[in-house]
Amino acid sequence: MSSSAAHQKPAAAAAPAPAEEEAAEHGPFPIEQLQASGIAALDVKKLKDAGLCTVESVVYSPRKDLLQIKGISEAKVDKIIEAGNASQLHAQRLEIIQVTTGSRELDQILEGGIETGSITEIYGEFRSGKTQLCHTLCVTCQLPLDQGGGEGKALYIDAEGTFRPQRLLQIADRFGLNGADVLENVAYARAYNTDHQSRLLLEAASMMVETRFALMVVDSATALYRTDFSGRGELSARQMHLAKFLRSLQKLADEFGVAVVITNQVVAQVDGAAMFAGPQIKPIGGNIMAHASTTRLFLRKGRGEERICKVISSPCLAEAEARFQISSEGVTDVKD
Ligand code: ATP
Ligand code: MG
Repeated sequence: MSSSAAHQKPAAAAAPAPAEEEAAEHGPFPIEQLQASGIAALDVKKLKDAGLCTVESVVYSPRKDLLQIKGISEAKVDKIIEAGNASQLHAQRLEIIQVTTGSRELDQILEGGIETGSITEIYGEFRSGKTQLCHTLCVTCQLPLDQGGGEGKALYIDAEGTFRPQRLLQIADRFGLNGADVLENVAYARAYNTDHQSRLLLEAASMMVETRFALMVVDSATALYRTDFSGRGELSARQMHLAKFLRSLQKLADEFGVAVVITNQVVAQVDGAAMFAGPQIKPIGGNIMAHASTTRLFLRKGRGEERICKVISSPCLAEAEARFQISSEGVTDVKD
């Protein structure tokens, strides 16, 4: 995974790094912190070698997974879980914030914007604005909190080859951010198949341990599943792979408090009911996708560059609709 701008450096000017004491309060907490709770350095290293780099990752791992780690006995696992929980008690829960979409009207129905710490799925037909919204969020997530930002970097997994750094520059301009800094703060990776797409999440986790990320985009989450798995015969294998991928994304949202935004295409559903209700369009991925996304947003085209977003499911938002527009400055309010 590489930054779209020349090289990867710690958060530059555009995204002010949180003050040190703040970072200590909000986590994620490095796994080394378990040593303060009496876990030996050697055991901490074993956890780290197994890919567990934060206290959060230990707390969210099933006990049976921890038992698989070489050299860690059952008694030790219990001690580690206890230490992890204790460490968490002292920690404040990762605070949920909203990142602005660039449109006031859209932010309003989302009660501020896209939520950190959970998965938001954006689905809709081609050209409905999914990719454009993702681009806009890559910039707004870098804004200070009091401007509707997340004060963090963005990570972009591109499965369709439609990421355009040039767009970020135009959007950065609008928010008065330095274009070069904005690009520096967006780590970009092209995913080539579903296994590769899953592997990229491991890299993402190790990057998130190092610096504060506010946003993680997968555009689209399902496209490669349609090409890697074909026909009914592979449907259950596809769904299992997708479920695992989505669980890993949820883990990133939990552990690092990033806003995870995934896009999804739709298919026209042809079944008996459609004869009466007219052609129904449905997002890809079935129940697996529906259950993994905390918030589901449906985009459709309106007149010209106007787009409509509808909240389809959310734990706390009403099923409202909002209009927005796509312009050279990304997502904006509709200019009547
Ligand atoms: P797909 O399913 O094909 O990936 P999508 O939902 O991701 O579609 P987007 O790529 O986000 O669709 O939206 C494309 C639309 O954005 C186009 O209709 C285009 O008119 C508009 N658009 C893209 N760039 C600009 C720009 N610089 N200025 C104005 N409108 C733009
Ligand atoms: Mg797209």
